[in-house]
Amino acid sequence: MNIDDNLEIDANGGVVCRHCRATIGDASNDPLAAAMHSERPAVDAGPGVHADPSHYTSREIVLRQAFCPGCYALLQTEIVPQDEPPFRNWRLN
Ligand SMILES: [Zn+2]
Repeated sequence: MNIDDNLEIDANGGVVCRHCRATIGDASNDPLAAAMHSERPAVDAGPGVHADPSHYTSREIVLRQAFCPGCYALLQTEIVPQDEPPFRNWRLN
């Protein structure tokens, strides 16, 4: 079953990369367990993020991304306050 353009669930409930077949996690527990995670300043998101977040908030705003450990395909991106947990979590029951 395809999850999105990058991930699918195999017959055993594993989450695998659709590009290189690397196992990323388990659909019912931690789908992105083996993903590579990075956290950088929000301005690293590119030209769409122009302003320094410190002009608007005293909280540090970061760019969090998850990548496939096999082919480095970008799996997830979020721009969030650094002191908050990831807001994009999913799993299948
Ligand atoms: Zn991959």
